[in-house]
Amino acid sequence: MHSLLKIKVIAVILLLSATCNASQIKLPTDKKLISFLNELFDNNAEFTKTHDTKFFDKFRNSQAPHLTIIKCSDSRVNLDAFDSTPDSDVFSIRNIGNQIVTTEGSVDYGVRVLKTPYLMVVGHSGCGAIEAAHKGVKTKIADIDRELSTIKLNNDKTLNDAILTNVHTQIDVAKKRYKSLVDSGKLTIIGAIYDFNNNFGLGDGKVILVNVNGIKDRELIRQTYSAKVKTLQAM
Ligand SMILES: [Zn+2]
Repeated sequence: MHSLLKIKVIAVILLLSATCNASQIKLPTDKKLISFLNELFDNNAEFTKTHDTKFFDKFRNSQAPHLTIIKCSDSRVNLDAFDSTPDSDVFSIRNIGNQIVTTEGSVDYGVRVLKTPYLMVVGHSGCGAIEAAHKGVKTKIADIDRELSTIKLNNDKTLNDAILTNVHTQIDVAKKRYKSLVDSGKLTIIGAIYDFNNNFGLGDGKVILVNVNGIKDRELIRQTYSAKVKTLQAM
């Protein structure tokens, strides 16, 4: 066959097979998916109804957050517990075990580029990532185990102790990483626990202050802030 003709024949065959494949492609339409999409778009419709143009005008073209926050990806840990208006106000990073080392670029963006004056690390009660690291459990999914392997604990007796240790460790990492910003007073690093299960004994849903700039002395934290912060929760 003449080579040009050969190319044309191949092109026609490819075109026909592509058309054929396109007619075979089907989007999933199972009941669960349709119900999920309904819920998602109903929620968004409600959101757009209750948020007018003025709301979006405030951050349409730029963001100016005052807080970079690192929280666990756990679905029970949400921002509502201590900030009901996070839009353009909170630069939020989430990962398993609320770690810095697995999301360094994102944390740098909040602290160094957006220059938030506060960096907060929030641990939480019943954290599965810390529990796995505490018990030395492996999931046998390489990328998960890699992210769990960077959680460093100190022979902690209980899960609560391990959760606290992890927050303190993250604050130490942050303090080293952003030393000049902390030393010059441009950045304050805060460690907290969100306790949705009253495991730390101060009540369901309490946010507990446990570390400021690497200082974890409970008595000192209480003495320094309790008179000035009316609703402070510290251990
Ligand atoms: Zn967690």
